[in-house]
Amino acid sequence: MLVLKDFSCGYDQVRAVQDLNIHIQKGEVFALLGPNGAGKTSTILAIMGHVTTHRGQILVEGRDITQMSAVSRVGCGLALVPEGRRLFSDLNVEDNLTVGGYAFSKKQEKLQREEVYSLFPLLFERRRQLAYSLSGGEQQMLSIGRALMARPKLLLVDELSLGLMPKMVDLCFEVLTTMRDRGITILLVEQDTNRALELADNVCVLASGVTVYKGAAAEVRENETIFEKYLGIGD
Ligand code: ATP
Repeated sequence: MLVLKDFSCGYDQVRAVQDLNIHIQKGEVFALLGPNGAGKTSTILAIMGHVTTHRGQILVEGRDITQMSAVSRVGCGLALVPEGRRLFSDLNVEDNLTVGGYAFSKKQEKLQREEVYSLFPLLFERRRQLAYSLSGGEQQMLSIGRALMARPKLLLVDELSLGLMPKMVDLCFEVLTTMRDRGITILLVEQDTNRALELADNVCVLASGVTVYKGAAAEVRENETIFEKYLGIGD
């Protein structure tokens, strides 16, 4: 579904990630883990076309999207739940969702919105409320909902749990599990290692932009050096 081949990305003077090679199967949950500054967010943003890919290729379902505009990448089935949610704060819940479904006909967009409301009934209750006045958890639901409005094949999720109460994190992860069960492929960046490992099939651990571990999520704990050095200790 998603292949990064000899992939490097970054900013003018900064090489954030170097020589990353990952292969994510359709329907898989893949977690990109690592300490602060490892290059996780930069990778996700480069896949979406918001950060420069310096070298290598990004393939989605075999199609090379490396040179594509960010808008065209959404057309290829990619959607982002960004770190910090980045909602349109002066728009209400419903209008934020409408923006996420902009590429569809009115009828299709309405159907998609109804599906999001069925996943997050609270968003339906709050549909006329301005985004800035929602709680952090509600904002995160809306951010996920807006991404789902694009009917993605590949959902990129950056720091879902950040700043949320455990109950809200549970709810958001339940929705990701539902999405996975419906066949959506998920690339997850998550500072809560335990949560990420519960959901993920495979992981890649980055440190200072370099891959230090790749393998099955169920096995990463067995590698004590990697687990303790890069992912924090224990449950
Ligand atoms: P965190 O968990 O702290 O969010 P991360 O693994 O997501 O970290 P990135 O945010 O991708 O890491 O940062 C990777 C490197 O790129 C860091 O050295 C960071 O300082 C640098 N970087 C990030 N954003 C920019 C930017 N806009 N301009 C220049 N350098 C940046």
